[in-house]
Amino acid sequence: MDFQLDKRSEDFRLRIRDFVDQHILPLETQAQAYDEGENIADEYLYPLRDKARAAGLWCLQLSKTNGGQELGTVGMAACYEEMNRSIFGPVVFNCAAPDDGNMILLEKTASDAQKDRWLAPLAEGRVRSAFVMTEPAPGSGSDPAGMMRTTATRHGDNWVIDGHKWFITGAGVAQHFILVARTSDDPRKGLSAFLFDRDDPGWEIVRRIPIMGPEEHGGHCELRFDGLEIPDANRLLEVGDGLKVTQIRLGTARLTHCMRWLGLAKRCLEIAAEYVSEREAFGTTLAGHEGVQWLLGEAAMDIHVGRLLTMHAAWKLQQGDFARKEVSMAKIAVADILHKASDTAIQLCGARGYSRDTVLEWIYRYARCARLVDGASEVHKMVLSRNLLQEGNEFWSWG
Ligand SMILES: Cc1cc2nc3c(=O)[nH]c(=O)nc-3n(C[C@H](O)[C@H](O)[C@H](O)COP(=O)(O)OP(=O)(O)OC[C@H]3O[C@@H](n4cnc5c(N)ncnc54)[C@H](O)[C@@H]3O)c2cc1C
Repeated sequence: MDFQLDKRSEDFRLRIRDFVDQHILPLETQAQAYDEGENIADEYLYPLRDKARAAGLWCLQLSKTNGGQELGTVGMAACYEEMNRSIFGPVVFNCAAPDDGNMILLEKTASDAQKDRWLAPLAEGRVRSAFVMTEPAPGSGSDPAGMMRTTATRHGDNWVIDGHKWFITGAGVAQHFILVARTSDDPRKGLSAFLFDRDDPGWEIVRRIPIMGPEEHGGHCELRFDGLEIPDANRLLEVGDGLKVTQIRLGTARLTHCMRWLGLAKRCLEIAAEYVSEREAFGTTLAGHEGVQWLLGEAAMDIHVGRLLTMHAAWKLQQGDFARKEVSMAKIAVADILHKASDTAIQLCGARGYSRDTVLEWIYRYARCARLVDGASEVHKMVLSRNLLQEGNEFWSWG
């Protein structure tokens, strides 16, 4: 087993670290750099995106043919972590959710003509995108195959879409949408995936749902479909492959979440370490107290556990494996690690941790969604339990 990062990935990682230090971190303390969703405002984002593109630090997740850097999943893990040292980082490099997951999916599943129409503008950073699956009750949430109600009905060369979706990240600004809808009652092959454009008639954004944390650009929206017509040419893969599309998308997208969350968790400890090294109480610095050392040591160890789980899953994905178990384990663990690291850092920074003078409270509020997005932790544990019951001791095999 080789835990060494290859030279090219390490070079990217160091250049991203410097870019974040020089160009992105200074913006976090400027109130005017935040938009209404507490993310980086467009007038700061777009010049930085031009800079990142010019520096060759753009779209690490795609192949060179499709306008990316072809870093591979392992290299991405190291670099994504570095990007999200800043709360504003990933979107600057065109590596933020949901666009990065959508691009990876389109690269893997779209035809050449579909790539020209739907992927290229995203890879160039000219448009944003959204993935449209979840529905409000009684529709599809944790159980999309069994409960999806939005329908796609074939009329000649078109599909007509009717239904209701919600929590669609980025829909407020997205131009390109990937939609999953029901095309039959088959339990495994009942869903299909389609592409549509913001300007197509027959659908609307009902509202932008207010949430407890900061938002991705475009927020999280509720959508209503009332006769949206999608040409069959805009279907992804075959009729009935909607679940397959979802699994392909979520496999890597769940892991890129983990990569970014680890960067945020490390940042929390960086802020806490600086504070406890300087602040004094009871005759020594806070870092001199064993109780503080235990909190810091445990959080540092947790983060490394998360990195090993994430890297292992990244390595398996890079070998062409679906890495379903490994991605689920990383997703469950890193969601908790981020939450605990931000909580520990707030505690160690005392009242300052609870203030808005640092990004800790931003990260703490954001961290709460990690246990829900892309599958609730309980559902991932259910999947792991199924694997264990089927595989027995082979669950832990290295092969
Ligand atoms: C910030 C955010 C962004 C999102 N972005 C998108 C997006 O871009 N596109 C999209 O399609 N969706 C998106 N979602 C939706 C997300 O994927 C769903 O919230 C998630 O899949 C869970 O579905 P649900 O909310 O309907 O929960 P429900 O299915 O209603 O489940 C509620 C809770 O029940 C428990 N539970 C469910 N099943 C089981 C089980 N089998 N065993 C034990 N416990 C269980 C879990 O604790 C779960 O949290 C987003 C959600 C959030 C919070």
